[in-house]
Amino acid sequence: MHYYSTKNKNLRIGLKEALLRGLAPDGGLFMPASIPVLKRDTLEKIREMDLSDIAVTLSRELFGEDVPEKELEQLTREAVNFDTPLVQVEEGIHSLELFHGPTLAFKDVGARFLARLLGHFTRDMEQEIHVLVATSGDTGSAVANGFLGVKGIRVHVCYPSGLVSPLQEKQFSTLGENISAVEVQGSFDDCQRLVKEAFMDKELTQKMTLTSANSINLARFLPQAFYYFRAWAQLEPGTEFFFSVPSGNYGNMTAGLVAREMGLPVQTFLSANNINDVIASYLLTGSYKPRLSTPTIANAMDVGDPSNFVRILDLFCQKHEWITQHMEGYSYSDTQIREIIGRVYRETGYLCDPHGATGYQAAKSYREKHPGLTGVFLETAHPAKFRESVEEVIGKELELPERLAAFVTKEKQSHPIRPDYTEFRKYLCNQ
Ligand SMILES: *Cc1c(COP(=O)(O)O)cnc(C)c1O
Repeated sequence: MHYYSTKNKNLRIGLKEALLRGLAPDGGLFMPASIPVLKRDTLEKIREMDLSDIAVTLSRELFGEDVPEKELEQLTREAVNFDTPLVQVEEGIHSLELFHGPTLAFKDVGARFLARLLGHFTRDMEQEIHVLVATSGDTGSAVANGFLGVKGIRVHVCYPSGLVSPLQEKQFSTLGENISAVEVQGSFDDCQRLVKEAFMDKELTQKMTLTSANSINLARFLPQAFYYFRAWAQLEPGTEFFFSVPSGNYGNMTAGLVAREMGLPVQTFLSANNINDVIASYLLTGSYKPRLSTPTIANAMDVGDPSNFVRILDLFCQKHEWITQHMEGYSYSDTQIREIIGRVYRETGYLCDPHGATGYQAAKSYREKHPGLTGVFLETAHPAKFRESVEEVIGKELELPERLAAFVTKEKQSHPIRPDYTEFRKYLCNQ
């Protein structure tokens, strides 16, 4: 399979190079040159499969030309070694629980797959590969855990000191092995700037192979198509349904739209936002106005200029009227998000995290207009990951799942640096 850039359809780049580069040379994002459409009998078989088997089937379609079958199957099974159960919350509304991986957020799927696919391509390279990732929390933990122990790859997680939750910090700063935490005495924007400067530093990139694990990397977003099929496989045959996707950078949404192109029989997609609603406004007005993000309690969606939006435009040939046939936008303030979490918990006993709560409510509102359809919202993180906000709403302490609790007692190890590129560069050169 070849990949083109969203800025240049004539560009043709192979999988390995697209993976290593992350971003296309012209600054666009990579897209597959053709999206495979599943045969009817493959679709029927998928309905009987668990998530790992679906992942193996679909990764063969997506990456089978570039990776030998046995190895692809093995790395896919290693990456996708947990399920994404569909849980009925109430009549006509289901939660697709994406938090059963090691860091309890959906990013585990993409990060674990990317790590192993990259590991496959770099296995025979003499030099180590250095993955740089800037994080405000969730991405760092998913990427660090995804790459833990993958040979030939070192990960450097840059995060703003004191600005990620203590638990999130522990999830990437206590692992050791091939994972290092770079504690930047600055903001998230500083972290992003340092990472960008490193990628653009010609002298440095001649000495070291650097790559990115942010959601612009195609091997992070494409595998997320797996669980959209898994959701469908768990619905009653013939159910007419839609997805409601709590969104920030829109990697998850893009994967859903790709799943639809592959033949998933879904009716429509809802785009659920917190007050950072640039896409909801775009859907309403047709004009895209990026802006600085505003902090909210659903902070993994605090994005003012979603990076994967160009991929969505590309899928629909830049046509607003076409996009709005497949997507409808909803957005919620923090006050509303708290109200939703409380109400759903009281009325159904189901506990949403702040991100999933936006997805639930969008599904609920859409169903009022389309009562015949079944809504599936993506529950993108375990509520205990956001326990401060959730506990305040329900007035009860949440128990930390074992996988999270295990991190609490471990010792943090970080490399503190000032938000200064020469210092970051010196750190990298010493690796
Ligand atoms: C990253 C994240 C999102 C947003 O996903 P995108 O693919 O960036 O749209 C939503 N919820 C949680 C919990 C996340 O970690």
